[in-house]
Amino acid sequence: MIEITLPDGSIKEFEKGATPMEVAKSISEGLARNVISAKFNDITVECSTPLTKNGSLTLYTWNDKEGKKAFWHSTSHIVAQALEELYPGVKLTIGPAIENGFYYDVDLPEGNISEKDFPTIEQKALEIARGKHDFEMRDVSKSDALKFYKEQGNEYKVELIENLEDGSITFCDHDTFTDLCRGGHIPNTGIVKAIKILSVAGAYWRGDENKPQLTRVYGISFPKQKDLTEYLELLEEAKKRDHRKLGKELELFTFSQKVGQGLPLWLPKGAALRERLEQFLKKAQKKAGYEMVVTPHIGQKELYVTSGHYAKYGEDSFQPIRTPKEDEEFLLKPMNCPHHCEIYNTRPFSYKELPKRYAEFGTVYRYEQSGELHGLTRVRGFTQDDAHIFCTPDQLDQEFKEVIDLSLYVLGSLGFEDFTAQVSVRDLENPEKYIGSVENWEKAEQAIINAAKEKGLDYVIESGEAAFYGPKLDFMVKDALGRHWQLGTIQVDYNLPERFELTYKGSDNEMHRPVMIHRAPFGSMERFIALLLEHTGGNFPLWLIPDQAIVLPVSEKHEKYAEKVLKSLENNEIRALIDNRNETVGKKIREAEMKKIPFMLIVGENDESSTTVSVRRHGGEDLGAISIENFCDLVSTEINSTLKSFKE
Ligand SMILES: [Zn+2]
Ligand SMILES: [Zn+2]
Repeated sequence: MIEITLPDGSIKEFEKGATPMEVAKSISEGLARNVISAKFNDITVECSTPLTKNGSLTLYTWNDKEGKKAFWHSTSHIVAQALEELYPGVKLTIGPAIENGFYYDVDLPEGNISEKDFPTIEQKALEIARGKHDFEMRDVSKSDALKFYKEQGNEYKVELIENLEDGSITFCDHDTFTDLCRGGHIPNTGIVKAIKILSVAGAYWRGDENKPQLTRVYGISFPKQKDLTEYLELLEEAKKRDHRKLGKELELFTFSQKVGQGLPLWLPKGAALRERLEQFLKKAQKKAGYEMVVTPHIGQKELYVTSGHYAKYGEDSFQPIRTPKEDEEFLLKPMNCPHHCEIYNTRPFSYKELPKRYAEFGTVYRYEQSGELHGLTRVRGFTQDDAHIFCTPDQLDQEFKEVIDLSLYVLGSLGFEDFTAQVSVRDLENPEKYIGSVENWEKAEQAIINAAKEKGLDYVIESGEAAFYGPKLDFMVKDALGRHWQLGTIQVDYNLPERFELTYKGSDNEMHRPVMIHRAPFGSMERFIALLLEHTGGNFPLWLIPDQAIVLPVSEKHEKYAEKVLKSLENNEIRALIDNRNETVGKKIREAEMKKIPFMLIVGENDESSTTVSVRRHGGEDLGAISIENFCDLVSTEINSTLKSFKE
């Protein structure tokens, strides 16, 4: 008999060789129907893998991330079989599950796959799935595995197998199809009820541009047709909310080939929006005791040699700029931290003066390959809402709590309610990987966990995910479409204070090293605005949106009155504009809707005589005729309900 420990801690006895599926059946028939993959002692196994020793077992259904992974990876086998049948001579390479779906990289004998071929591939794959074939793993010797793929003339799989240890090689069979695979499948092809091929793209073998180019077929699959329909609707909505599209429509930013790839140009409305975000954060930071600093866009190469950034990123970054006469070398600033360390170093500090909190909206430049660039989310120049806190180890606890407070305030004011935190700590098995004393690490990790707990964050602890120089906390937000984004990091650092020889005089009159915290609640202005655009679909919170109201005179006769309305709105600090083109009100409303302006103030005969405005909200709600004064009150009430001031 063997003892199986289940996630709730209960231990059950089974015959040696019992499978995860049998364990599921012993719990309930319902679970057995839904279970699609399993992990035994933290290793992915098949539902049919015989368990031969004591251990802990987790069973997964479609609702678990691991379950989806097995589902999508299994579908990649089915799609690979379909491709083999439809494109004889195709060479298969790798087909992993990804965040949403899977891909398979194939070397086509000739021609290409285009969108018009997708339905045929989907049909063929579904036909195979409906055959309800079991996925079955078997061990193969290295020589047999090599023979199998050499006969097919598949040099890719041969290369993969050559790098594997004999005795560790497995094949997976279903129907007439066989693939080299480590495992992690659903029990049977019949569970896959809906398959969609999403796109094709070029991909180099092993990501190396000197190697052959393959065709990457992306797809996704679901256990119900309804799930696929919903997913496609979500994709449609994501397309509508694509920040590149909205940024253009709302005239926020643009790119110019002449200026260069990955270098956003902010248009007046976008620049004003950024400015409002900056002011918002500056105001809160001031209350939290931060001081603003300003540093240049370049720094001597030596600065980054000291910080360690040059050794780490120098080769893969923008290359140094040389001065003509002295032959000095400068780098475009990839990070603000080294500059801030030198600001700290300008004079000695006593422990009584700490923490020092230096903040800067610092623009940094990092080289990204042109293929990696994407709108505002992957750029070559961006502005971080950066700050560095220098404190004593004993102050870490309090500082962390205050940074979390600030981050929560920022997220809340911008309409993000659904977020979690990830706390990254050391890998205790490999202490040699980390710089700094064990005592300090323990203090810092405990400080982060205490702060997360005390602030009521929904957090997970990830062991081994900390950087070599310190533990950290990342905020993950869930957007309106259910996608997860990593935002604002709070990072403890023992490395830079060491490298820059930062000191303070302690109460014992000895010199000590301060601890440094890096933090940026937005991350970067660029990425944050992109995320905010996609989260809100361009309907920014009222306090932030570029134009809060538009005045629409129903005819030329009322233009004068409309101008008067505009003036009083401006006097009340409402950002408004006027549309006095010779167009119908209907058309003006449609266009204002497109521009996502929250309030349309329609003014006609009655409004003029009773000095009111007829208010229509974005989306169509009619608020009727109200006085200008009441309208201004309405706007400020709404703003005050989302934008509270920090620490009040
Ligand atoms: Zn597989
Ligand atoms: Zn930093």
